Amino acid sequence: MDRPLIDHRGPEFAEMMSGIFAGLREVFDAEAGVMVFPSSATGCWESALVNTLSPGDGVLLYDNGFFARKWGQMAHDLGFAVQVIDADWRQSVDDALIAERLEGDASREIRAVLVVHNETSTGVTSDIPAVRAAIDSTGHDTLLMVDTVSSLGATEFKHDAWGVDVTVCGSQKGLMLPPGLGFCAVSERALEANAAAASPRAYWDWSDMRAMNEVGFFPSTPPTGLLFGLVEALAMVREEGLGGVFARHARFAAATRRAAAAWGLENYCADASAFSNSGTTLMMPGSAGGDAFRAECLRRFDLVLGGGLGPLKDRVFRIGHLGDFNALMLAGTLAGVEMGLRASGVPVQESGVEVAMDVLLETSESK
Ligand SMILES: *Cc1c(COP(=O)(O)O)cnc(C)c1O
Repeated sequence: MDRPLIDHRGPEFAEMMSGIFAGLREVFDAEAGVMVFPSSATGCWESALVNTLSPGDGVLLYDNGFFARKWGQMAHDLGFAVQVIDADWRQSVDDALIAERLEGDASREIRAVLVVHNETSTGVTSDIPAVRAAIDSTGHDTLLMVDTVSSLGATEFKHDAWGVDVTVCGSQKGLMLPPGLGFCAVSERALEANAAAASPRAYWDWSDMRAMNEVGFFPSTPPTGLLFGLVEALAMVREEGLGGVFARHARFAAATRRAAAAWGLENYCADASAFSNSGTTLMMPGSAGGDAFRAECLRRFDLVLGGGLGPLKDRVFRIGHLGDFNALMLAGTLAGVEMGLRASGVPVQESGVEVAMDVLLETSESK
C-alpha cells in the first residue's frame, strides 16, 4: 500500500478496479456487484437504507447486540419507522420471531429486515439462510439486509445463494485492511427498490456510484492506497481459498474456547451452535471488572483486548481472532490473557494456553 499513487482517472486504475470488482463478486458471492465507498462500514449501513427505502417506511430490526442496536438507531435517526425485536443478546437470531412479526404486518409496512450476521459485541453468529427461509415462508416481500462487517472473510457468507438483498461490510476486519472502505453488495430486488426509493441521498447514492464503477472509476476521489491493499487482500484470500480461510478461523475460535473453559471463564454466547469464529466474548467472573483487567493487559504486555460494548461494559472482554492472524499470534494472545488474569488476581482454574496449544498442534497442517 505504501507506494506512490496512480492517476485515479487513468487506464491503470480502471484495470485495477475491474480486478477488484471481480474479486469482490467472488468473495461476497454477489453477481449484481459490490460497491466500494470511501467510508467506515457505518456509512454503508446508511447507504443500504437510503437507497432502498422511502421516508417513513417500516424497518424491522433484530436487536441481539450492540451493532444491531446501533443500526436500528441509525434507521430511526434517518426517519424510518423502526420496529424492534428486543431479543436475548446471548442467543443467535431466532427466525421464528421474525416470521411472527412479518405475519402480523398485514399492510406490508415493513420494507426491510435488518440482521447482523456476526454480532461482534457478543461473539454470536446467526443463521442467515434460516432468516431468509422464515421471511419467504410468510410470503412477505420485505428486503433482507445483513451486516457482515465481522463475518466476511472469516465465516462462510453467500450474498446470492442465501438470498440477501443488501450486504454491508467494511475493510478492517476479515478483509485485513486498515479502516476506510465500506462495501454494499446488492441483489436485483434491491436495485428495483433503489429505483423507487424516495429517501434523500447524495454521497451514498447508488446510481452514480454504479455508473462510475461500471467503467472502473469513482464519483469522487477514491482512497487509492487502500485499494492497492484490497488487491493484495483479495489475492491472499484467493491463495488460501475461502474454505481454508474459514477453517483457519474455526480452528482459532475452537482453541480460544478451549482456553476459556480451562480458565473457568464462561462464554457470553449461550448457544454452542452460534459461537463466533471471528471473536470470543468472555464473561468476567464474580465481581472482577473487565476494564481494569484489560488495562492491566495493555500496561504489562501491550495486549489490546476488546471491551464490553453498551450494556456489557466492564462485564465482558473480547478476544479477536480474525483476519491476518496465525497460530503463534493466537498463542501469544492467549498467554497474554492468562498472565493478565493472574496479574489481576482473577482466579484461573488451569492453564488455557496449554490446552489451546493442543488444539493448535492437532490442527496445524496449514497456518
Ligand atoms: C465493526 C463493526 C461495525 C462498524 O464498522 P465501522 O467500520 O466502525 O463503521 C458494524 N457492525 C459490526 C458487526 C462490526 O463488527
